[in-house]
Amino acid sequence: MPTTDDDLRHMRRAIALAREGDSAPGGNPIGCVIVLDGRVVGEGHNEVDRRLDPTAHAEIVAIRRACEALGDTDLRRATLYATLQPCGMCSMASIWARIGRIVYGAGRGDVHRMYFEGRHLDTVDFIVDAFRDDLPVTGGVLAAECAALYHRPGEAVPAEEQTNL
Ligand SMILES: [Zn+2]
Repeated sequence: MPTTDDDLRHMRRAIALAREGDSAPGGNPIGCVIVLDGRVVGEGHNEVDRRLDPTAHAEIVAIRRACEALGDTDLRRATLYATLQPCGMCSMASIWARIGRIVYGAGRGDVHRMYFEGRHLDTVDFIVDAFRDDLPVTGGVLAAECAALYHRPGEAVPAEEQTNL
């Protein structure tokens, strides 16, 4: 699915949220926006450390807020924008929330491997293997700007900052 001006606008909002997350106590620089009919219905940044909740990824935070705002768990007409390619948990959560489309900025190859749990599976594999075959994924939107939020591939990241290794 081609990138639109709306995609760029919503990704810029996700980047702003990621920056907010980076500067918030216990926040992390991953942002997510959920858009339905051109309107933001849920957004957030990673709050894992603030909430002491390993599931509080930006996408999960935004999905929860969108469902609360809409009074509905069915987000099938909504698009999820994330600054970083969704992990397996968030890919699955998107499937269960019936998200209609996923758009992400930086991909796995653009960032340090500590951001991803699996070495051989990625978002697309989860989606292909799930019961949904109607969830288009567009990656690489404002990829350089998004990747600048994260440690680079192969970067010597201090051990205490390496969350998954
Ligand atoms: Zn995630």
